[in-house]
Amino acid sequence: MSEIPSATKAATPEEILSAALKKVAAKDVVMACSFSVEDLVVIDYLRKLAPQISIFAIDTGRLHEETYAVAEALLQKYQLHIDWYLPQTLSLQQLERAKGLFSMRESLANRHECCHIRKVEPLNRALVGKAGWITGQRRAQSTTRNALQGIETDAAHGGILKINPLIDWSDEEVWSYARAQRLPVNRLHSQGYPSIGCAPCTRAIKAGEAPRAGRWWWENPEHKECGLHR
Ligand code: SF4
Repeated sequence: MSEIPSATKAATPEEILSAALKKVAAKDVVMACSFSVEDLVVIDYLRKLAPQISIFAIDTGRLHEETYAVAEALLQKYQLHIDWYLPQTLSLQQLERAKGLFSMRESLANRHECCHIRKVEPLNRALVGKAGWITGQRRAQSTTRNALQGIETDAAHGGILKINPLIDWSDEEVWSYARAQRLPVNRLHSQGYPSIGCAPCTRAIKAGEAPRAGRWWWENPEHKECGLHR
């Protein structure tokens, strides 16, 4: 991915969104929501700044019950519509019949296969015909994200814009905003889960561990992405 110069390191979410929406029409942009606290902050911004931007989520079939509770709370808070995308049934049947329900822990290749079926393929469908997508990614989240830019061209999805409004926010800024706006954050955050993905692939972290140490905890840090953010 390459940086688009108009988004500077110090840009605020408003500035990043404004710069992006000068390049692409809001109707052609979507927000990818995984119900992380960052995504809730971005959605709160979008409701104020660009409510016409639609929101989608991927139901991998392996999410925590607490994550579905966040989705329901969001619907109540904003009366918004979420476009859900699910994995292809045939692909899931083939995977589970051939390899069972926990093949992702047996090898990196198996984990990537599961992420591809449950996340990447539905994401690709969600982005068809779009000019840009918005995420809640931040540089401070992990070693795999420290080169992110506020606005990037996403070569993996045909060169559309990838917009990261919270690129330079710290943990403290995210949580301060979430508390101030009474956002319906996932209950698992208060149980040691700073980063939450699918249930079989997320554990609580221990004191001193990196925020994403509980994601695919059996893998090396440089592998800790699911293919959604390449
Ligand atoms: S995070 Fe785990 S369960 Fe979810 S899609 Fe990836 S490998 Fe499969």
